[in-house]
Amino acid sequence: MSRPDVTGTDPRPTRLCLFCGSNAGSSDVYTEAARAFGAAVAQRGITLVYGGGSVGLMGEGANAALAEGGRVIGVITEQLLRAEVAHGGLTELEVVNSMHARKARMTELSDGFVVLPGGLGTLDELAEILTWNQLGIVTKPVVLLDVDGYWAALHEWVESAVVSGFVRPSHRMLLQRAATVDEAIALATGPAPDVGHKWIDLDPSNTGEIRRADG
Ligand code: AMP
Repeated sequence: MSRPDVTGTDPRPTRLCLFCGSNAGSSDVYTEAARAFGAAVAQRGITLVYGGGSVGLMGEGANAALAEGGRVIGVITEQLLRAEVAHGGLTELEVVNSMHARKARMTELSDGFVVLPGGLGTLDELAEILTWNQLGIVTKPVVLLDVDGYWAALHEWVESAVVSGFVRPSHRMLLQRAATVDEAIALATGPAPDVGHKWIDLDPSNTGEIRRADG
């Protein structure tokens, strides 16, 4: 896979996807981190891709990027247009039919992913991009920005899942960890970790009947 170019000479600028809460959270540190991330991305000439809402940390990150003159692409569903109050001032807003299509489109558009604090939706988005990397469907860096230790419990869970034999030890590396915005952007614009794919040792002699559900 070709690596994103952060020098500005690439005809298509690097794009980073932000996953984060549609709520602002209970502390100003979350809002400050989302603003700092949005501003830093724009200052580097990186395009921000996100869920297209104007609420919570999502809106904070997008507004900060726009305020710095950055490009922001939102991807939202018809159903969420009103619930997450689609941002009216984005460079581009794509409207898709389903949550699945939304995640697939954000993944397609982006070179790397940074995850700020968020709730179940953020976790869902994170889990999908991690499992797609695990399966080799994509090979793109995923970085958790650990604002105020927010992701520590998730890292602990991954460790316990490795010990219990449900996550390969090498797949721990899929969850890259950053303490600062600068570190998060550096990791997310760098190479994806080379972890080997989950079914790399799939038995090719397994030729059981396959019935396709997608036509
Ligand atoms: P949350 O972290 O719950 O505030 O949600 C953050 C983002 O994830 C919002 O844009 C939500 O629309 C989105 N989201 C919520 N639930 C899901 C889901 N099941 N699948 C994909 N995205 C979701």
